[in-house]
Amino acid sequence: MEERIITSLERSEDRENEALRPGRLMDYVGQSRIKENLNVFIRAAQNRGEALDHVLLYGPPGLGKTTLANIISAEMGVNIRTTSGPAIERPGDLAALLTSLEPRDVLFIDEIHRLSRTAEEVLYSAMEDNCLDIIIGKGPSARSIRLSLAPFTLIGATTRAGQLTSPLRDRFGIINRLEFYTTDELKQIVMRASIILKTNLTEEGAIEIAKRSRGTPRVANRLLRRVRDFADFWGREVIDTQVASQALDKLQVDPIGLDSLDIKTIEAIIKIFDGGPVGLETLAATVGEEAETLEDVIEPFLLQRGFLQRTPRGRTVTSLAYEHLGISPLNRQQAGLFEEEN
Ligand code: ADP
Repeated sequence: MEERIITSLERSEDRENEALRPGRLMDYVGQSRIKENLNVFIRAAQNRGEALDHVLLYGPPGLGKTTLANIISAEMGVNIRTTSGPAIERPGDLAALLTSLEPRDVLFIDEIHRLSRTAEEVLYSAMEDNCLDIIIGKGPSARSIRLSLAPFTLIGATTRAGQLTSPLRDRFGIINRLEFYTTDELKQIVMRASIILKTNLTEEGAIEIAKRSRGTPRVANRLLRRVRDFADFWGREVIDTQVASQALDKLQVDPIGLDSLDIKTIEAIIKIFDGGPVGLETLAATVGEEAETLEDVIEPFLLQRGFLQRTPRGRTVTSLAYEHLGISPLNRQQAGLFEEEN
């Protein structure tokens, strides 16, 4: 897969920037409804001296699920243990993690939809009754023992809430869907990041970066760093609108944040499938991406911007998509064949 500057999936360079991750709820920009509610639930749990109820966070990558999980543990004043669905190979791995938790600690499981069924079953009794049922021995002599656990909070994050089984989903008392960020929120995020990175960024420059960040803080912070590279290279001390937009053009991020893969996707639907509907697998094969990447990373933003629709028969593009590409829907038959971009 070609490396996208605008991918909302984590790239190795992002990890260097832990400093940009807000540490407390008051520094976490946007998602105001979620923040308000969480604040109430956290204070209530603290007053009662209890663990916070289990929390499920879902939404596209890069919107701040991991950040929020860490903030919840900081606000609760407890430790956080972090793992991910694919990292837990055997139910015993999960049992070991659960038994190591102190009262009220947070266990954060990223990509929780990828947990194996047997590991998931361990979670059921842990989440509901704070206990683990462990089978010792094999065959007729096998017996089950029950271990009690410290009260804890499970925070699960997923890009696909629909893939969670209902027994698991039902055990979360607090379920939050993270939304794409507005330009103004992303502006605040890059302004804050520019201070931490000691970069001179004007408000207009920040807006330019924000507009092209696909509604995603991870992308906004990454674009800021790349723009800063261009500014250094050009010997410009201040990142203003002009520097930002010239650098972003070089990075092939279009004025509303679509990159070559977004364009390729909508172009394929228009030019090959006559505007749709086209099934996910067929579309993925045409643009040369995994169906999962298309569904989790590319589609949510195109749907949110109103370029794409999901219908029972497949994906279709809207008139906005035609407009953005400068193709008239009436002339779509003449739009020509989709050329493979190389
Ligand atoms: P996810 O877990 O949803 O993939 P992360 O929590 O890892 O996303 O967020 C990616 C990066 O974006 C973080 O390192 C952080 O710097 C930034 N970020 C995310 N959400 C916010 C926010 N609400 N305010 C400020 N920065 C944020």
